[in-house]
Amino acid sequence: MTTLAIEVSGLTKQYDNLTAVKGATFSVPRGIICGFVGPNGAGKTTTIRMLLGLISPTSGSARVLGESVSDPEKYLAYVGALIEGPAFYPALSGSENLRVLATMGGFPINRVEELITLVGLGGRGGDKYKTYSLGMKQRLGIAAALLPNPALLILDEPTNGLDPEGIQEVRDLLKKLASEGTTVFVSSHLLSEIEIISEHLVMLRKGEVVFAGPIEELLLNQKPMIIVRTEREEDLQKVTELAIADGHRASIRSGEAHIEGPHEWAATLNKKAFAAGITLAQLTPTLPNLEETFFEMTGGK
Ligand code: ADP
Repeated sequence: MTTLAIEVSGLTKQYDNLTAVKGATFSVPRGIICGFVGPNGAGKTTTIRMLLGLISPTSGSARVLGESVSDPEKYLAYVGALIEGPAFYPALSGSENLRVLATMGGFPINRVEELITLVGLGGRGGDKYKTYSLGMKQRLGIAAALLPNPALLILDEPTNGLDPEGIQEVRDLLKKLASEGTTVFVSSHLLSEIEIISEHLVMLRKGEVVFAGPIEELLLNQKPMIIVRTEREEDLQKVTELAIADGHRASIRSGEAHIEGPHEWAATLNKKAFAAGITLAQLTPTLPNLEETFFEMTGGK
């Protein structure tokens, strides 16, 4: 048995004159939660659809649980997926909806109540679907994806549109599933929504993989930064120009200049700003958080 849940090499999907996924290469080990992140339109859903055999790659290859995506029938029985908002009958209860799906899919009906409890809908399984919160609806969708008792769970944006409580509920559920041995591949356009639970990340930007690996490796990529605020906001641009003239990358975000550079350089910047008649209101050496590192790598979109 391969130790990789997903193995993708040079995967490409061309639509007319748009390359939605360009030569993507990455792998996902078994037994972990892997976040699949990138701005909207980066190619996440397209990649997931190829992994599930719903569309064919233009070129390149992908294996899921050791089997090629050109033979999806060999692995789909072991994969649970939630790719579009789950479609359930509003007037049926959560349990009834799952029973319908179990019957249609030929899965054991007696798993339904177990799954309702597993996803934390224990007391509400008998309530109509239309009375559920968004977080509960998403968790029922995950329960449906778990009907085949999958080795790999692939979820496309399961936290999209959820309130912070709903996001937390989905995160807790995914952690629980991973702790029980399910590999989870979960996409999001917001790194902050999944970084806490992901051990591994694959980042896409405009169809290309910009990072794939353990989250600690991404942390090693973090470059020290200096955050600057000026007394007069119009001076911020001048500060970034001073930094760039000295060979540092700099940008303005939310009324602050973000300058890449060693912390010692903060004193130099302070002197240069003073000489240019600029009063600094804040000068803070820091390490970027993952979200900022992600912004740097994915082009700030
Ligand atoms: P993400 O899931 O990261 O938001 P998608 O994979 O949905 O990104 O889309 C990637 C790009 O491919 C987008 O520019 C999208 O408009 C385009 N795209 C997706 N599906 C199709 C399709 N069936 N035909 C043409 N273009 C498509």
